[in-house]
Amino acid sequence: MPTARDEVLPLLLRLGVPESVYQAGGLPARSPVTGEIVAELRQATAADAADAVASAAEAFAAWRKVPAPRRGEFLRLLGEELRTAKADLGRLVTLEAGKIVSEGLGEVQEMIDVCDFAVGLSRQLYGLTIATERADHRMMETWHPLGVVGVITAFNFPVAVWSWNAALAFVCGDPVVWKPSEKTPLTALAVQAIVERAAARFGGIPAGLSQVLIGGRDLGEVLVDDHRVALVSATGSTAMGRQVGPRVAARFGRSLLELGGNNAAIVAPSADLDLALRGIAFAAIGTAGQRCTTLRRLIVHSSVYDGLIPRLAKVYATAKIGDPREAGVLVGPLIDKGAYEGMQAALVEARKLGGVVHGGHRVETLGGPEAFYVAPALVEMPAHAGPVLRETFAPILYVVRYDDFDDAIAMHNAVGAGLSSSLFTLNMREAERFVSSEGSDCGIANVNIGPSGAEIGGAFGGEKETGGGREAGSDAWKAYMRRATNTINYGTTLPLAQGVTFDIMG
Ligand code: NAD
Repeated sequence: MPTARDEVLPLLLRLGVPESVYQAGGLPARSPVTGEIVAELRQATAADAADAVASAAEAFAAWRKVPAPRRGEFLRLLGEELRTAKADLGRLVTLEAGKIVSEGLGEVQEMIDVCDFAVGLSRQLYGLTIATERADHRMMETWHPLGVVGVITAFNFPVAVWSWNAALAFVCGDPVVWKPSEKTPLTALAVQAIVERAAARFGGIPAGLSQVLIGGRDLGEVLVDDHRVALVSATGSTAMGRQVGPRVAARFGRSLLELGGNNAAIVAPSADLDLALRGIAFAAIGTAGQRCTTLRRLIVHSSVYDGLIPRLAKVYATAKIGDPREAGVLVGPLIDKGAYEGMQAALVEARKLGGVVHGGHRVETLGGPEAFYVAPALVEMPAHAGPVLRETFAPILYVVRYDDFDDAIAMHNAVGAGLSSSLFTLNMREAERFVSSEGSDCGIANVNIGPSGAEIGGAFGGEKETGGGREAGSDAWKAYMRRATNTINYGTTLPLAQGVTFDIMG
């Protein structure tokens, strides 16, 4: 395999990122695949961020007047450019985030899918017409563009999450200022170059419609505090959301929070264990446990525990760990040393509570000294407690037993996060209860598939400490627009609502 550096630089050139940008010094960009520093980038300053917001605000004044179906044409062109760049951008995702090849490509496919979705949406930004109680009146809802959208993203979906937000924002008439993760700046620069190609083909895109700010959380904080940013859409840890949410609220801005998950699957006595095994393996060890929807807790009925867990332990022991560019590899690297240390600390804590740990060790032979490859950990826990109750962003799957379905649901819901969930069962009553109001308390509740791997057509997001935001499909677009209720009187009298009388003289 070539070094990451040897691959990254030609990829950036092909994707259209000018050399001056990634050899400007300051912020090192490291590939988790080999641990090498692959580029040195110039970091934006707080003043750059304020300027970006100002030029986005100017772009808003022009873009909101472009008819929505015409804005949709821009998304159609962006989808075309992404199709052309898919192989290169997917490869860059692999090199910068450590995802296996099919997942890197899958992430770009998700961007294409949401562009297609936004094209359709461009003719469907519907408002209601509502029956009014007054004669000769009409009442309706109108949806208007909202304003500048600040998008703050996490390292683990370095490009798809931007697209969920940006495709909807652009079609809704809003400019986007993007603060990507400081751990994945290169893919962000590549996306910006792709957007600029689509914009050139469209013609007449206002400058400042799409901007990217390379750097750390201080830049995110500028977006959080600037009153000209109408919506802050922030994806990342719950710790980040705890800071961002109240700060945006303090200036009465709107926020959309997509935060951490601690996702579980329940395996019931009737489950198809072959299917469950595949679903569990993909959700738990795929993306090296670094998806917000990664399966972290497995709640298994005592009657099937001994039939399932030894088979799962075998999958864990044989899943190929390695350079994510290699065919057959299922588990790539962790993003960095901090992720590795967090994983080890959680395993120490689990052992102290009586947990039996399979795997979890570092694979030193892979990558360089600054690359962190681990065997995914399967941890049999005596109780649903300790580190089981929180998200550790690494491939650790805690397994606990249950005997009664009510207890399983109670355990399932007894964590702070509320993102994704699943149940493996062939029992119709259990399946329906799980997706009912007394079942899973998560934003995503699945039956006979794992908790990860969502499609863009549904609204994506979760409850409780996951932040409550919804992105991508369904009616998530409404977060990017403001609603006006309009009442029009086409009569000659002025009847008041609720029969109120207010007769004036003269
Ligand atoms: P992180 O919270 O460390 O950083 C995310 C982003 O927030 C980065 O761009 C960072 O610079 C910025 N940031 C951090 N503190 C900030 C502040 N006070 N003000 C403004 N910006 C700030 O998260 P990470 O390690 O990159 O990603 C992993 C986390 O993201 C996990 O918890 C994972 O579950 C979560 N995640 C959630 C979703 C979702 O849709 N719910 C999707 C992907 C990742």
